[in-house]
Amino acid sequence: MDYIRTDANGQLVFEQSTEFLHIPCCLYGFHNTETIVGKAASGRTVYCFQGKLDLPESERRCKCGKRMHINSHPDITLRHLCFGGDLSCLRFPHVQLRCSGCGAVKEQFISFQTPGHMITDALYQYTRDLLALQTYTNKQVAEITGLGKNVIKEIDKKRLQEKYTIDGKKLIKPERKAKYLGIDEFKLHDGHRYATHIIDMKSGHILWIAKGKTKQVVYDFIDHVGMEWMEGVEAVACDMNSDFQEVFEDSCEWIQLVFDYFHIVKNFNDKVVSEIRKDEQRRLFEDGNIDAARALKKTRYILTSNRSTLRKKDEEAAERKILHKGSDLFKTEDVVRKGGHEARYDELFLENKLLFTVDLIKEKLADAYRMTDEAQMADRIIDIMDICEATGNTHLLWFRNLLDKHFEGIIAHATYRISAGKIEGINQKIKTLKRHGYDYPDDEYFFLKLFDMSRQGYVRNIPSHRFSD
Ligand SMILES: [Zn+2]
Repeated sequence: MDYIRTDANGQLVFEQSTEFLHIPCCLYGFHNTETIVGKAASGRTVYCFQGKLDLPESERRCKCGKRMHINSHPDITLRHLCFGGDLSCLRFPHVQLRCSGCGAVKEQFISFQTPGHMITDALYQYTRDLLALQTYTNKQVAEITGLGKNVIKEIDKKRLQEKYTIDGKKLIKPERKAKYLGIDEFKLHDGHRYATHIIDMKSGHILWIAKGKTKQVVYDFIDHVGMEWMEGVEAVACDMNSDFQEVFEDSCEWIQLVFDYFHIVKNFNDKVVSEIRKDEQRRLFEDGNIDAARALKKTRYILTSNRSTLRKKDEEAAERKILHKGSDLFKTEDVVRKGGHEARYDELFLENKLLFTVDLIKEKLADAYRMTDEAQMADRIIDIMDICEATGNTHLLWFRNLLDKHFEGIIAHATYRISAGKIEGINQKIKTLKRHGYDYPDDEYFFLKLFDMSRQGYVRNIPSHRFSD
């Protein structure tokens, strides 16, 4: 084995040694006698530190008072820290003791092993530190540490349980009181079941997360935080299509329900704009106007964008804005913004009066949600309801009723000004986690991971390695 040291000038000196390569961590009672360099299945270099572990006389004492004898000592291998891209492990005989008096058996205690894992505390801590950074996915942490995916998940789940639960059984109470809450639901991995989350609209922290989308989820949350905590809450934002509002009317009548802009636009786009477009397409097909029907199929983006967005794109086109830079090296050309967005929009609406109405309503909704006075906002919402009614269209009549039924909670927005940004942010995070496969198959882990992600945004530190205890 080559033994490496530095001389007085800081130059590396290689000496032939049969003894050891020094281990950069305090492993209490372990004596390294030989180091073998091997290759892992992945092709990475593995330093295997062989040696033996002290067996103190006190450990040989049985509960009954007799001295235990060594029954066997099978080799044990524990994964240890990495050196750059190389892996390491420790191997030593693990003594099994037996009492000839009472027949008791026990294993030699390894002070540096992580209970439940075949790894050292040092590697466990390093892995936890990497996971706490929230910079790497589990797959990346597995690659860095050379540990298996399941081990990484177990370590991460334990970390999250310690951080956010009491004994893994109950979620911790919110860190501070919240003035505004937001409630939203999302689909789980199988696409059929739902889960609901409740967030602090100021910090964006998820405070509660549970399977299902029934009222019980909210009752459970109120139970969890207690009435005194709830008394600090002034308003709750949620989707109009939920029945969560009944819970607050029932048990916290001082709380104002607010229907935010994000959800109202989502309802309008999904249930009105898309439906009208489908109807129109059907009508054009039936009239034999196949080309027009096909064109309409590609217009969802245009129809669901704001006129101001389209205008901005056209302005960019006029300035020849470069969307994608070309390269001389790879012989690609610049991709330049194409114009005509707004013109295409106008053309579509000229072809169809209903689509024009949809356009108008969307602009009026955005305008209404800019109001800071309830009476002014009420005027604008009533105006929208009148327009919907005048069309006589089924989908727009449905939307009119939706506004009517939730009128108070809609105009309350003028007073409470709850921004929907945090709800949208959480939705994005759910999508990111799903894309990385965290939502399958362990719901509890997925929920804790979301809990953690919503608290992201602290200053990131490089993990500190524990070299000694
Ligand atoms: Zn005994």
